[in-house]
Amino acid sequence: MTKKILILPGDGIGQEVTKSSNEILDYLIAEYSLDFEIKAMDVGGTAYDLHGSPIPADVLSCAKDSDAILFGAVGGPKWENLSWDDRPEQALLTLRKELELFANLRPAFLFNELASASPIKNNIIEGLDILIVRELTGGVYFGEPRAIVKDEIPNYAFNTMIYNENEIRRIAKIGFESARKRKGKLCSVEKANVLEVSKFWREIVTDMSKDYPDVELSHQLADNTAMQLVLNPNQYDVIVSSNLFGDILSDIAATLSGSIGMLPSASLNSSSQGMYEPCHGSAPDIAGQNIANPIAMIASLAMALRYSLSQPDLADKIENAIKVFVENGNRTKDISTSNEFINTSDVSSKLIEIMKNG
Ligand code: NAD
Repeated sequence: MTKKILILPGDGIGQEVTKSSNEILDYLIAEYSLDFEIKAMDVGGTAYDLHGSPIPADVLSCAKDSDAILFGAVGGPKWENLSWDDRPEQALLTLRKELELFANLRPAFLFNELASASPIKNNIIEGLDILIVRELTGGVYFGEPRAIVKDEIPNYAFNTMIYNENEIRRIAKIGFESARKRKGKLCSVEKANVLEVSKFWREIVTDMSKDYPDVELSHQLADNTAMQLVLNPNQYDVIVSSNLFGDILSDIAATLSGSIGMLPSASLNSSSQGMYEPCHGSAPDIAGQNIANPIAMIASLAMALRYSLSQPDLADKIENAIKVFVENGNRTKDISTSNEFINTSDVSSKLIEIMKNG
């Protein structure tokens, strides 16, 4: 059956890195006669400038009708003073909400050749390979009621941290199943010592572990995990957590691996429809200079092939090519330790050459 892919380059380096992933995709389609239907549309500040909305209605309906969305990045100083509804980031929030993309998968890994680019000592960081599974559509970021109250003295503000059983079960299931496909270890992270919602989360995850006897489950308090990620990150295989804690922990994990330009992400719903994007933003400071690292975007394409496009072998092929690319000493500016580096526009052709020879 034809698989539909929507490409949303967005703003800043989003345009440059999706050009690179498109070149890889075009190569794979031609080489393996893939039955893919591809569309590209504007989103973010670029869409606001051209069409008056960061996420025009036709983009949203096309996204709903796609199997995989490849999303570059949105935002930039040009659009910072727009009203909340017109801001480029609305594109991301709307897509996550409308497509019910509740599971955010963020691998954090290190190529040992790049250990010197990490802020952490080599002996601690070598071999890093973690997957963080973050709940993305619930918890305190979306909980009601929420308000800033200014007509009472003293003024106050509050949010609601809430998860129902179904929301916990569906994200924990992704955690258990991901662990099963990796090293078989799942660490569920919350604050069960102080929060009822976390105590409930721990109860449900513990109950589910009966169905996954092959997965070694542990529980950890979020503050301890933040510390352990820096002290001994290799103790983890898969971490599953709520929206708030997962947000913080995944940024710590991203920092460990040296450059944010290397890290992909996937956001999935229950029908395996997914949005795939690099962990970085639109990087206005380097946009248009042909120096952005497109690997995070290309590795996001690999995740799309694995999780939404039924092509796990091609996902492996891209990931292996990235590994060989780094082993061969290829460095974009962000991961180069000398004045020599290769430009954004040269990365995909090198990867294609490696795939052809591999
Ligand atoms: P950023 O991730 O864009 O950049 C942070 C730093 O990392 C910058 O120095 C940048 O040059 C560098 N960097 C990022 N990606 C890189 C790459 N692929 N190769 C080399 N270097 C790279 O974060 P920021 O500066 O805080 O935000 C810039 C804009 O992006 C803001 O408007 C923000 O709202 C937006 N943003 C968007 C997303 C998204 O679209 N998912 C995510 C984060 C930030």
